[in-house]
Amino acid sequence: MKFSSLYFEVTHFCNQNCKHCYLDGGTHHKRAELNTEQIKDLLNRFKAQGGKFVTITGGEPFTRTDIFTILDYIENLDLSLYLATNCILLNEEKIYKLSQYKNLKLVHTSLLGSNEKEHQYISNHNSFTHILECLNLFYKYNINVNLQVTLAKDYICKMVEMADMFSKYQIKFTPIADIGIKQDRKLQEEIVLSPKNYYLFLKEYEKVKQKYGDKIEAHNLITYNELLEEINYYKDKKFYSLTNWCLVLRPNGDKSFSLDLNNKITFGSALDSIEIEEDNKLKKYINTLKEIDIDILGVAKNTTAVNYSYLQDIMLAKKQNYIE
Ligand code: SF4
Repeated sequence: MKFSSLYFEVTHFCNQNCKHCYLDGGTHHKRAELNTEQIKDLLNRFKAQGGKFVTITGGEPFTRTDIFTILDYIENLDLSLYLATNCILLNEEKIYKLSQYKNLKLVHTSLLGSNEKEHQYISNHNSFTHILECLNLFYKYNINVNLQVTLAKDYICKMVEMADMFSKYQIKFTPIADIGIKQDRKLQEEIVLSPKNYYLFLKEYEKVKQKYGDKIEAHNLITYNELLEEINYYKDKKFYSLTNWCLVLRPNGDKSFSLDLNNKITFGSALDSIEIEEDNKLKKYINTLKEIDIDILGVAKNTTAVNYSYLQDIMLAKKQNYIE
């Protein structure tokens, strides 16, 4: 099975420790990473099997001292580059350097509130002002940015205010409704908008959309009708699923389809071969995803909207033993 998109988690080490992080990002883990040569080798193989798009992500990719060596290598392979960063280690010199990559298509970054206090509460880092400075520099050097703003339930009503603030940077703004990734009930109740209140989020989103139109990206909730339409669209495709079909490479060298480390289903070591075989395990995995899509559709029928990937992770974790 071949892939055109690669999602490369070059480290799980991170200089933030966001409350909602699906990797439990931070500096408290033992550092386990592929080395520069292993990464170059995997990028070569990805390119050779027909790969076109690479997302470099983490953890925080810029905590690696060889990050520009890796980015240079991607540029020389003529692969389209997408880069996810929390911006903390960026400065004007590095942003200028990034602007010199002709294959850099988009930088993804994120904020976690409308001001320093809110952002720090979720990220455990006082990086709000620095991120805004970086947005200015991305704008100055003509780098496309997608800004994800993860909204704790108390900040939902500030979506328009935030869109106003970001509009001067000419960036794409993606409001994220549901940050209930960590399995921590107390934390969930404290910061996560309950599904019963998703309509509040959707109401705010509509206001932003009316004001800014195409500058606002799709949020991360899906309604019953939208989900039904997606399922019907994909149902006759060989690798049917609403899951992003990109290959994920993990710092320990595993390969997987999943963008979420909560899902521990992997397809062997990426270091042996970058391709995933169309074997029984893969068939079981895909069939399970199809079943899960129908289950999520059932949930969506009785509510305003659902967070598809969050529900998929929970359901997939329950079926993990069956697939393995
Ligand atoms: S910046 Fe990203 S990787 Fe780091 S802790 Fe936050 S969500 Fe996790």
